[in-house]
Amino acid sequence: MKESNLINKLAIDGGIPVRDKMLPYGRQSLDKKDIEAVVDVLQSDWLTTGPKVGEFEAAFADSVGVEEAVVVNSGTAALHAAMHAIGISSGDEVILPAITFVATANCVLYQGGIPIFADVYPDTMLIDVTKIESKITSKTKAIIAVDYAGHPCDYDALRDICDKHGLILVSDACHSLGATYKERRVGALADVTTFSFHPVKIITSGEGGMITCSNPDYARKMRTFRNHGITTDHRQRALEGAYIYNMEYLGFNYRLSDFQCALGMSQLYKLPSIILDRQLIAQKYDEYFAQINGVSPLNLLNNVTHAYHLYVVKLDLEYITMNRTDVFAALRSENIGVNVHYLPVYKHPFYQNNTLMLDVVCPIAELEYQKLLSIPIFPSMSDKDVEDVAIAFKKVLDSYNN
Ligand SMILES: *Cc1c(COP(=O)(O)O)cnc(C)c1O
Repeated sequence: MKESNLINKLAIDGGIPVRDKMLPYGRQSLDKKDIEAVVDVLQSDWLTTGPKVGEFEAAFADSVGVEEAVVVNSGTAALHAAMHAIGISSGDEVILPAITFVATANCVLYQGGIPIFADVYPDTMLIDVTKIESKITSKTKAIIAVDYAGHPCDYDALRDICDKHGLILVSDACHSLGATYKERRVGALADVTTFSFHPVKIITSGEGGMITCSNPDYARKMRTFRNHGITTDHRQRALEGAYIYNMEYLGFNYRLSDFQCALGMSQLYKLPSIILDRQLIAQKYDEYFAQINGVSPLNLLNNVTHAYHLYVVKLDLEYITMNRTDVFAALRSENIGVNVHYLPVYKHPFYQNNTLMLDVVCPIAELEYQKLLSIPIFPSMSDKDVEDVAIAFKKVLDSYNN
């Protein structure tokens, strides 16, 4: 009796936590083949700008079903290269959702453009396509759609808006590698699509990113952009015995090393099984959360398959007596590594200091943000791990209910 009281008592109040050790919200899954792929390259002639770069790009383009894939050293670099390739420059406006990682907006600023924030749907947190057209001006050049959590946006509706107004459609698919929309693969749904290979993302190369497109001109621009704006790379010159190179414009060093490309390629082969693992965990969560009061998962539309980079739940703040910060702290004390994705970007101090952002208001994003929690999801989670998360939620929410 005494012991069960201690177990029911919240860990934040001195009770026994549901788990001994913190369960993280995301982590990489590497196996022996991944490690061997990296070691092979470490023993080869080319640590960077070698053959693995083109091999990874070709394998990725093939897996997504597009003509071109350009590898870079982060998802942020991918977004920056994409903004460069589509010609975003000083004063250009780019429309994107209020709820995303800061990099989606920052890449517009890197090019001197202006991010214009659009509100999101409350049930999916995806950009609300009905709120876009009122934001379009003569300066608008592009829309960046973000497949929040791994759920593809409404690409047919976005394409219609872009066609009608002569805009370029960019997809920030850093969450959604492996997902589909109306049976078409993410990566081939927009004019340009960006991916991240950070360790918490669907596949990893340590750090890394990729851009896919079907426009060879965009691809050529991005390959030059990642190499200082220089038109040939080190290996091409070595092979040709040449020393002259031309820098055409101001670029960056956004190259990804060969051992990282080898890791990314090795991970890519496992993409179908990684997605399946994530979907199975999500299914179990769906079943658990259907039975826990005070919380519900985001909506899943029936014309997509979800990659589940994140599994996001929303708290029913009318049902529970505490706010998200309290629930977050209580779950962390139970050693459940919950997280929050994301504060509306324009609420960050850097953006608040910009006079252009002063009257930006996305009411749905601001309201729904207060309810969001991302819960642990990664392929190697066991059934017991998933159950622990559900037990901890029930324990915390039952003690915080009205
Ligand atoms: C992770 C992420 C990025 C940035 O990727 P990095 O590889 O960390 O630079 C951009 N946009 C979204 C939506 C992301 O989740």
